[in-house]
Parts: sequence; structure tokens; C-alpha cells
Amino acid sequence: MSVLIYAELDNGSIKKTSLETIAYGVKVAAATGDHAVVLAIGSAEKRELEKAGHYGASKVLHASEEKLKHENSLAYADTLVQAAQQEGSKVIILSKSGLGDAVAARAAAKMKAGIVSGVTALPEIGETFKVTRSIFTGKAFAVTEIKSDIKILVVRKNAIELDESSVATVQAVVEQFAPKLADEAFKATVVNVEKASSELSLTEAAVIVSGGRGMKGPEHWQPLIDFAKALGAATGCSKPVSDLDWRPHHEHIGQTGIKVAPNLYIACGISGAIQHLAGVNGSKCIVVINKDPEAPFFKAADYGIVGDVFEILPRLTEAAKTL
Ligand code: FAD
Repeated sequence: MSVLIYAELDNGSIKKTSLETIAYGVKVAAATGDHAVVLAIGSAEKRELEKAGHYGASKVLHASEEKLKHENSLAYADTLVQAAQQEGSKVIILSKSGLGDAVAARAAAKMKAGIVSGVTALPEIGETFKVTRSIFTGKAFAVTEIKSDIKILVVRKNAIELDESSVATVQAVVEQFAPKLADEAFKATVVNVEKASSELSLTEAAVIVSGGRGMKGPEHWQPLIDFAKALGAATGCSKPVSDLDWRPHHEHIGQTGIKVAPNLYIACGISGAIQHLAGVNGSKCIVVINKDPEAPFFKAADYGIVGDVFEILPRLTEAAKTL
């Protein structure tokens, strides 16, 4: 038997979040005594898919048909179900993302599987199979027991420490996988995808520098952009900043925006309202720069700098350039 892990592709590469999900799935497979199989859908080079072996997966199924080139949650769910049936997988693992949730939900309905989304840690596997997930926008954790034969977990970023030394590198075998897909799955199809920009994706970025109303206006954003560039970071913002059109809407982070989980989140002139925190509480380390020592964000911060962003950011940029 196997644990099946769905790895999302982006432009022919396995997404960073999916590499982490592969490592997570390999650990689950070690606990259940199964082997880990990865499913990749879309076009990618064999050499790229073999990267799964670096995270301990011994086999990769590659569904590369032309009609699977663009994301289609119905067709991808059918592909996942058929791969699970072929491999006899009782545990199926996906990354938490728009596509991951859509595919997981459809596959769960088809397989009558128990599903938990937003998983934040490795499952407890013994007499029972229990998973922990975050609820109430990260304010609490719920422990859920999955009782169905087939179990589907949708895993959040940073659910495990990606410790390179603890993952055994194996030679992954890449096999072509050709699912039987009904026309039903292609009632609406994507014909072309145009990226809005070449900027770093917020959901994939390891470091994010984010600005709030304390940045005073769009004409004052350069120090933040310079700092982000020096760190190789993506840029984000609070909701009022995007509402005011100071920054594009796709940078809006929080409960009603994008939820991020970088290794390092640096908040510049953001007060730390609960709705903003809901989008960043998966971050490994939070640094807050705010001139008000009473700003609520400091309570959620690992490191805090009390001061004026316009004095601090240029100094941090100079320091980052020497790294
Ligand atoms: P402010 O609250 O105005 O804070 C600005 C901060 O900058 C202050 O703490 C101030 O001390 C500091 N500052 C000012 N000048 C400087 C300086 N020179 N140097 C350093 N610091 C300085 N918000 C989100 O961000 N994301 C969401 O998804 C979101 N969803 C929401 C959903 C609902 C239903 C509601 C009601 C609200 C939502 N909000 C959301 C809005 C949220 O409640 C806050 O209003 C918002 O996050 C505040 O943004 P801000 O911190 O940029 O601005």
C-alpha cells in the first residue's frame, strides 16, 4: 500500500509548498509502514519530477496529457482517484491551496473519504487516526479523528520542519500515468493562462516584507521595495492599503485576502488587527516595525522594532546588502 501525495506544478516545476508536502507525506508513510508515491499532473521534465526522491518519495506518477495542461479540479480529482486506486492508497495528501482544496473535496466525495483541510502537524497514528488543524482563523486548533477507510489530508505550509538531514534521499522512479477521463470533467476548460506579473508569489515566498497605513502613501513605498529586493522577498500589504489603491489588490494579506506562511514575515507600519493576523499566523518568524510600542502586532511578534519605518528600513536595507 502507499501514501499518495499530490504535487502541484508551476511552469514545469514542483511548487515549493508541494516539496514540503512530499516530505510530510513521506513521514506519514514511514508511520503507517507504507511507501510514498507522488502524483504530478501537467507538463514537467523527468529530471524535475525526480526531485521528489530528494524528499524520500520512491515513485512519481506523471499524468502529462495535453488536456491536463491547465488546472481543472474535476479532471485532476478524477486523476487523483484513479492513481489512488491503482496504488491502493489509503492516505492521500495535498497542499493547502485553492487547487488543493478543490481537488481534495471532489476526490473525497468520489471516494467517500474523510477529509480534513488546514492540517498543521503530523497525524497521530495508532488505534485511531487523529489530525490537528487550525480553526477560527488560527486562534485555536481542533483535533479531528478520521474514521473512514480512505483519509484525505490537506496540509498547510510549515506543518513540518523541513529538516533536509532527516529526509532520506532515494532514487525516484518516474512512471507515465494515463487516467481515463470522461468528457464530463471538461465542460469548462481553461484555454490560456497569462500571469499578471513576474513578481514572486506571496504563497510561495520564503520571506515577505509587508506594509500598512503607516507607510503613509504609495509614493513612500520605495524604501520597503528596496528592502524586499535586498532580501529577495515578496511584498505584501494590509487591506486598507490595497483598498486605497496604494498597492495592487493581489498583495492584500489577511482574513479577506491571501493567507501566507513564509519563514519570515516583516510587517512595516501595520497595527496588527485580528483580521490581518488571521492571514499571517502560519509564518515561522514575525518581525514588526511600528513607532507605537502599544501596537497590537507586537504581541504576535517574535522580534519587534519600535521606531519610524522611514528611518529603520534604509538601515535594514544596507545591512541586508552585506549578507
Ligand atoms: P492602521 O490600523 O491605520 O495602522 C497603521 C500602523 O502604522 C499603526 O500601528 C501606527 O502606529 C503605525 N505607524 C504609523 N506611522 C508609522 C511610522 N512612520 N513608522 C512605523 N509605524 C508607523 N485588514 C487586513 O490587513 N487584512 C484583511 O484581510 C482584513 N480583513 C478585514 C475584514 C473585515 C470584515 C474587517 C471589518 C476588517 C478587515 N481588515 C483587514 C481591516 C483591519 O481591521 C484593520 O483596519 C487593518 O488591518 C489596519 O490596517 P493597517 O494596520 O495598515 O492600518
